[in-house]
Amino acid sequence: MKLTGYKEIVGTIRCQTGLRIGGSKDNLDIGGVDSPIIRHPITDLPYIPGSSIKGKIRTLLELSTGNISQDGKAHNCGNCEVCVFFGSLRTSTPTRFLFRDAPLTQEWETKLREAQEGKGLNFSELKNENWIDRRTGRAGQGGLRTFERVPADTEFQFNAVIRVFDGDNEQHGINFMKKGLKLLTRDYLGSSGSRGYGQIEFKDLYLDGKKFSLNEG
Ligand SMILES: [Zn+2]
Repeated sequence: MKLTGYKEIVGTIRCQTGLRIGGSKDNLDIGGVDSPIIRHPITDLPYIPGSSIKGKIRTLLELSTGNISQDGKAHNCGNCEVCVFFGSLRTSTPTRFLFRDAPLTQEWETKLREAQEGKGLNFSELKNENWIDRRTGRAGQGGLRTFERVPADTEFQFNAVIRVFDGDNEQHGINFMKKGLKLLTRDYLGSSGSRGYGQIEFKDLYLDGKKFSLNEG
């Protein structure tokens, strides 16, 4: 098996609603935030880890192809197209799809820095969420929690790579990637998607420098 090339997909991820990818509370002093988002450890800027994008797209493709594991772990048969493209511990075949960490676009880094200076925001939105006691119709006890999320409209730089090996059907790989990206726009990224978080769209997608749309083909 020989690696014969790479197909590179770049574009912009735009958050249509607030996006929440959980980070760790350990090394930060975040006043009053119960659930912080993930940030770059040095700059504090939010980013989307490639692992989050990959994991979600893999799950959606597993669901849509019916390759669903019953034990709650990642599906791992080693044979199906999801395992081939996303990698499997069962086989030694190399993973085809790589998803890079997605940093803020330059424009949005500037916007969030301005918001930090002007409004004191720490590159994020704080959202208080409560639970309602159905018997009384009032907020439940101890139910108020503060979630941090990336504000709606924020944009990140998307970058993914398809490795092509001899014998691979290159077009099939591209189509499978596009299918995954499209599913992601219909579903959500990060957490709390059923409560409106994490709706995203892809803008200005290019495959090896050539513009394409998820709606064609
Ligand atoms: Zn499989």
